Amino acid sequence: MPALACCVDAAAAVAPPPGYATFAGDSSFFSAIPTPQTHTSDVTTTSVAAVNSHWSTSHSASLYKIDRWGAPYFSVNSSGNICVRPHGAETLPHQEIDLLKIVKKASDPKSGGGLGLQLPLVVRLPDVLKNRVESLQSAFDFAIQANGYQARYQGVYPVKCNHDRFVVEDIVRFGSAFRFGLEAGSKPELLLAMSCLCKGNPDSLLICNGFKDAEYISLALVARKLALNSVIVLEQEEELDLVIELSNKVNVRPVIGVRAKLRTKHSGHFGSTSGEKGKFGLTTTQILRVVKRLEQAGMLDCLQLLHFHIGSQIPTTALLADGVGEAAQIYCELVRLGANMKVIDTGGGLGIDYDGSKAADSDISVAYGLEEYALAVVQAIRFVCDRKSVKHPVICTESGRAIVSHHSILIFEAFSSGGYDSPVMSQAGLQYLVDGFGEEAGADYRNLTAATMRGEYEACLLYADQLKQRCVEQFKEGSLGIEQLAAVDGLCDLVSKAIGASDPVLTYHVNLSVFTSIPDFWGIGQLFPIVPIHRLGQRPGVRGILSDLTCDSDGKIDKFIGGESSLPLHELEGNGGGVSGNGRYYLGMFLGGAYEEALGGVHNLFGGPSIVRVLQSDGPHSFAVTLAVPGPSCADVLRVMQHEPELMFETLKHRAEEFCRQDDHDCGRGDGSNDDHGVKNAALASSLAQSFHNMPYLVAASSCSLTAAINNNGFYYCNEDDYNAAVDTAAGDDEQQWSYCIA
Ligand SMILES: *Cc1c(COP(=O)(O)O)cnc(C)c1O
Repeated sequence: MPALACCVDAAAAVAPPPGYATFAGDSSFFSAIPTPQTHTSDVTTTSVAAVNSHWSTSHSASLYKIDRWGAPYFSVNSSGNICVRPHGAETLPHQEIDLLKIVKKASDPKSGGGLGLQLPLVVRLPDVLKNRVESLQSAFDFAIQANGYQARYQGVYPVKCNHDRFVVEDIVRFGSAFRFGLEAGSKPELLLAMSCLCKGNPDSLLICNGFKDAEYISLALVARKLALNSVIVLEQEEELDLVIELSNKVNVRPVIGVRAKLRTKHSGHFGSTSGEKGKFGLTTTQILRVVKRLEQAGMLDCLQLLHFHIGSQIPTTALLADGVGEAAQIYCELVRLGANMKVIDTGGGLGIDYDGSKAADSDISVAYGLEEYALAVVQAIRFVCDRKSVKHPVICTESGRAIVSHHSILIFEAFSSGGYDSPVMSQAGLQYLVDGFGEEAGADYRNLTAATMRGEYEACLLYADQLKQRCVEQFKEGSLGIEQLAAVDGLCDLVSKAIGASDPVLTYHVNLSVFTSIPDFWGIGQLFPIVPIHRLGQRPGVRGILSDLTCDSDGKIDKFIGGESSLPLHELEGNGGGVSGNGRYYLGMFLGGAYEEALGGVHNLFGGPSIVRVLQSDGPHSFAVTLAVPGPSCADVLRVMQHEPELMFETLKHRAEEFCRQDDHDCGRGDGSNDDHGVKNAALASSLAQSFHNMPYLVAASSCSLTAAINNNGFYYCNEDDYNAAVDTAAGDDEQQWSYCIA
């Protein structure tokens, strides 16, 4: 236990005051106490080999529950890294992708064959997306076959779950063979869905949900003119008048759906939109009025779809079947009333088991899989329709979360850790400490010593605490110096550690903004599996919480799946990870492909992550990066807040010109030649421009050569490209650089 040894050494070196002798000089003081095995002592006293002797990658897999939440897409490979199985259960061994290799490829400097992207990084896996869409389709195909259901399944993807162009385009492409469509809830979403579906199957549904104005409705009607299969789902009764009026005006026969407000209520976090008091949909009275109004307008044949949405993360198939059954009754009633019904759209809610617990009573878990979900839906509809002798409708779902959650992984880095790094008592500190004690503190100190000798742990803690409080009071009064205060902290830490009462949880600082990248953790307490993506062959020796870069006390992650308030982590290697050291430590947040990217804001002006799109390919590393996009730069995030980075840059550049000139003059430095000024100012301007150009996140020292350019007034450049740009100020028309960077 080096910390202890260190303190004891320091203590032994000073002339011990009365009472202190036993405490400090006698090393039996602590050895008398049977020290409980804490994580701390484990790691610091045992060699790495011994620590790992009873540890294997399968221990890590079960510790982090990877097989529970990650199957069939994520597992641990023999190198101790997370590997991606891009085709799910059908993945062949040689197709597995080592996630660490992707991260290295993305983040290594361009000069080293990498893509030079900054972290945090989103790794997007189109193969996984394809597997999800196909698995959902097969689950319904199977349920339909097994139940002798007489119509097909035809799903749509709600684009709000992840609007990324490539995600939406991929889903349309992968689902084209089975008429997979899209759902939109606003005008820009509709525009994006329309343009994507131009490349899709002509039968694919384009479901238009959300509150609508005349412009939205016109757009949905235009979609039909463009031979896209748009369905206007009435969310409010007033929308109907607009639909009737506008469709007559543009001479388009609309396909209309109604969103029903069900009585079935889902009680989880996401259930507040459901039930009679829910925010959305038409009541039975309103649905009846809609039917009447359509009949009067001679348009009852246009009403073809019934939509409902119980809420996201539907916890059980029992609740699902209940809601679907209720909706199927409404569907049959609409048939009876003469509507030309064809489709029942069961909305979203197909859940994700984020912690792998298969629990029915948790917001982050669900007690079913794709297959059970599909069976419950098909059986509930079939049961109701058969009893009413109604032709089986086409079944549509708007499953968002279930399609996109698995396909992306957020990778970020821990760059330092702190927590039980107890302040070491210096000799001087100790001397001050004892000298500076008032009468009461002195008594506490003697009591503490005595209790320690008797091995009375409770009393030890009590006296240590009292001593600390008194010293803080003395400090506030001004009668105790800062060194003494630090020494008291060290002493109390030493005591609690020696008797095994210290909190072994470390704080790992991560190069991330929780608000930007994991908004649902901050906003609604949603948990995602977070796991180191490498070193899984080693026993994680400590526990930690994750603290982000933002200046906000909410910017930390201290709740993890499995009800844990800390995460098992490996000790940072070298000089503590990224910013100053070279032992990189990468963590991955999984299952965050839905909602997180769309919701993230720019708190503290941290923008989004870099993104790579990674396909499985049959090469030596079994993957190919097909797209690499750096995350938003400082300029990009400033622009979001209406700043004008170009003007800001000009202002700073002019100021630099002004002050550099003055500097030279005042200090008598430089030969004052225009040439010299020119080079210096250009280098300075270039470094300023680079700051606008870079992402807001920390740049790891190991990827940052910190090279001082010759003759540059001591400005530093953070990678080779920038360095070259700075030196080569005259030329340099790099596409990546701003044209005005190099004035
Ligand atoms: C959000 C939403 C969805 C998607 O829900 P998931 O739970 O992600 O599948 C589907 N339909 C509507 C109307 C929604 O509001």
